[in-house]
Amino acid sequence: MASDYDVIIIGAGAAGLMCAATAGYRGRKVLVVDHANKAGKKILMSGGGRCNFTNLNSTPANFLSDNPHFCISALKRYTPQDFLELVDRHGIEHEEKAAGQLFCKDSSKDILNLLLTECEWAGAEVRLKTSVNKISGVDHGYQLQTSSGTLTCESLVIACGGLSIPTMGATGFGYDVARQFGLSVLPTRAGLVPFTLHPELKEQLAPLSGVSCPVDVHCNNEHFREPMLFTHRGLSGPAMLQISSFWHPGDLIRINLLPSVSVCDRLHEHRKTKPQSHIRHFIEDFLPKRFAKAFCELQQWNKPFQYCRNEDLEAIADVLSHWEVRPAGTEGYKTAEVTLGGVDTRDLSSKTMSASNQPGLFFIGEVLDVTGHLGGHNFQWAWASGVAAGQHA
Ligand code: FAD
Repeated sequence: MASDYDVIIIGAGAAGLMCAATAGYRGRKVLVVDHANKAGKKILMSGGGRCNFTNLNSTPANFLSDNPHFCISALKRYTPQDFLELVDRHGIEHEEKAAGQLFCKDSSKDILNLLLTECEWAGAEVRLKTSVNKISGVDHGYQLQTSSGTLTCESLVIACGGLSIPTMGATGFGYDVARQFGLSVLPTRAGLVPFTLHPELKEQLAPLSGVSCPVDVHCNNEHFREPMLFTHRGLSGPAMLQISSFWHPGDLIRINLLPSVSVCDRLHEHRKTKPQSHIRHFIEDFLPKRFAKAFCELQQWNKPFQYCRNEDLEAIADVLSHWEVRPAGTEGYKTAEVTLGGVDTRDLSSKTMSASNQPGLFFIGEVLDVTGHLGGHNFQWAWASGVAAGQHA
């Protein structure tokens, strides 16, 4: 008996919609189902409402995975330039913020509209408010029991994302499907997420809420030179989000608060030229006044320079260049931009995204154990893996 659809995709997010359009243009009869009342909710909230839709400098080195070579093939076959051409074809205005990071000039809605338009042109159907209750393997395909009846398809694509932001409809459904069909799922944890602090440090840093400063943060042999933001809950900003993906509970992070300054030399110079001034004044030359005041109180640096011995200056330089913080934890999936870990890519073809042991079953996007750095890499993975599966499903 013929299937209802050639391809059913579960998840109308970035990867699922990209896959649907690609398969549709090949003449495949495609249906995308999603339990949410709106497609692409994460696209809409991304990049502060302006979607950082790709990164021109994206390479496989920008991704974390237990199987780091897996992402190379798909990323090579669908590049940031390919997505940019699509954006230009749709006349979407965009701008480069930090090096290589492309954002919509107007709104994230432009990217969602692009994807929905492409699906429409490709003849792919998108059905919302549809939940999938059961999936069974049948002869030459799959049968889905859904809230809108039974559906059958030759190829089934799982594009239901990770666990971050459950209020936006995130579920562990994709992992359950993987396990059901014998694929391994690697432990998951929140990534690109703010840190929380132990109560004492949180209280000490509370006056800094809202202050941002450029830092170089280190943890587990990785480092990022980006702005850090103090919040009323802890530490955030691009530097902290980036390093959070490399942090494990209990780890220290080391923060260079003055990465562009030869701190020890400048402190000695300052003692010579302004002996009556305080460390606070030295810090104010580089960082916001509010930060200088609160940080000196935290470190109890209250002597004028003229009373600081060489050892004191060296100790101060050490703290400013290697401030050690042991976060209490992270804010978790509630605010994380991504989920680390997920479906083990060793069970998939890197060319087609299909399960090696299960013909016609594909996994794409964030549900996989492929997680990008901050800066447009995660969407680039959604586009590239979506296209790879769309060309073969
Ligand atoms: P998703 O976009 O999460 O889509 C999954 C879809 O599956 C959803 O529509 C969901 O409703 C549906 N679904 C889930 N479970 C089920 C189920 N059981 N049944 C049916 N449907 C289901 N990345 C960037 O590159 N640039 C950015 O600017 C950026 N900003 C971000 C900002 C925020 C606040 C967040 C949370 C993430 C951001 N990301 C950004 C990450 C990016 O959004 C994700 O990596 C990307 O959306 C993953 O695409 P996906 O299609 O795999 O999953």
